[in-house]
Amino acid sequence: MRKAFICPTKYVQGEDEIRNLGYFVKTFGSSALLIAHPDDVSRVKEKLLITAKEYQISFVESGFKGECSRQEVARLQELAKEKGCHCTIGLGGGKAIDTAKCVAAGEALIIVPTIAATDAPTSHSAVLYTPDGAFDDYAYFKQSPSVILIDTTVIAQAPSRFLVSGMGDALSTYFEARATAASCSNVNAGLPCGFREGCCGPAKGTNTAMALASLCYQTLMEDGEKAKTACDCNQVTPALENIIETNILLSGLGFESAGLGGAHAIHDGLTIFEGTHKYFHGEKVAFGTLAQLVLENAPSKEIEEVLDFCLKIGLPVCLEDIGVDQFTAEELMEAANKACIPEESIHAMPFPVTPQSVAAAIITADRIGKNFKEKSRCGK
Ligand SMILES: [Zn+2]
Repeated sequence: MRKAFICPTKYVQGEDEIRNLGYFVKTFGSSALLIAHPDDVSRVKEKLLITAKEYQISFVESGFKGECSRQEVARLQELAKEKGCHCTIGLGGGKAIDTAKCVAAGEALIIVPTIAATDAPTSHSAVLYTPDGAFDDYAYFKQSPSVILIDTTVIAQAPSRFLVSGMGDALSTYFEARATAASCSNVNAGLPCGFREGCCGPAKGTNTAMALASLCYQTLMEDGEKAKTACDCNQVTPALENIIETNILLSGLGFESAGLGGAHAIHDGLTIFEGTHKYFHGEKVAFGTLAQLVLENAPSKEIEEVLDFCLKIGLPVCLEDIGVDQFTAEELMEAANKACIPEESIHAMPFPVTPQSVAAAIITADRIGKNFKEKSRCGK
């Protein structure tokens, strides 16, 4: 059986770690194209100046326009060439990181997430949008980023809703990996890159990736609530460090190398509801996880553990928590159909899935979540 595992070359996290960014730039050369939103640059400006001086390197600021589009990627690649940059840095949230991945195209890339809201930083893929912000395409690169550098002090200072959302994204990882393993489905780690046609092919997950996915879930249960409290106080504690690693590294390696399942597909289906658009990816994935657990008839104890965790840290447990207050039966079927299109990861579930069974799981998960919330409110 063909199996694949993919990961970044180096992962480093610590307090004020951005002060060491110059060291990693230096391993490639003396200048780096810095792709970052101006607000994110200003949050870490002082540390950038310190590290540039200490390691004698320069950052070429890019005037990043905020959208990961083909046009912006082409402009930045041209700029990198013109300025003779030796590596690319993506600093900030999802868009800057995805743009940097596209500009670097799998070579000499340093990712510096300033929030821990998703597990995307470690992956070898990115999402392209049109200049007006509509979905364009997925891009896969020949390698994962060279360096993931995380300044835990910066993450602790960001609003804790980002960290909680990252825990929602990480919450699905184990359950989706478990389903993928049970059905022996392919994982993203084996996907072909867009640069060398046929360089790799379909592959199953490794035991290594499954172990990481399990640790991801265990760490959330153990440290999630403590980490949220630390982040509410803008403090770096051991629990917060564990959860930053969980949200970014464990969940990132888990989803790419151990597989996606129902939770992310149901998330994608639910995006047909306008009301969900103001909620973060991980917040919607948390509800998608509950719906997947209902779809696979997971043990009540497991569902309750997940619900309890979500309520404790403030993740959604029902549809109204993600902006879906009312809907028609037709709208629900539209969402379920979208979750079940042939390309969706829901088909990695270890049994046949139909739009009807997905709609039933969404409705039931919503009621279970509402009831659980009500019960815990009365219990207090
Ligand atoms: Zn995700």
